[in-house]
Amino acid sequence: MSGESASLPAPAPAVNPETREYWTATAEGRLLLKRCLDCGSVIWYPRALCPDCGSLRTEWFAAAGRGTVYSYTLNHRGQGAYAQAGPYVLAYVELDEGPRMMTNIVGAQAGELTVGLPVEVVFDDTGEGSALPRFRPVVG
Ligand SMILES: [Zn+2]
Repeated sequence: MSGESASLPAPAPAVNPETREYWTATAEGRLLLKRCLDCGSVIWYPRALCPDCGSLRTEWFAAAGRGTVYSYTLNHRGQGAYAQAGPYVLAYVELDEGPRMMTNIVGAQAGELTVGLPVEVVFDDTGEGSALPRFRPVVG
């Protein structure tokens, strides 16, 4: 499923011990989230400590990779690796599991995007053992 948004750059993220498992999974086409074993919160972004109750008892689980557009904007002037990317969509996607992820929407026609639009994850390989999760409209 990689290469869905070839027009967007896919710079490798900074990986640390708290996020290594997350990024390794993205390279395999899986979106992982963490769940707190004490209070049940779904934790995003990935970290060792539950932000709701402070517990260190967390576990990884595979997200469905589906959600809906919570908000979005068309970005005309990117910075850094995105300086030459041209207009692209920056969005918050609310995952089925609850967290809202900042991401890009790809594969959408102009005017097709709406708040609440169902989307699914795609992965753009960074070439460095990780992939960037982006989302495209669910077809059908
Ligand atoms: Zn907790």
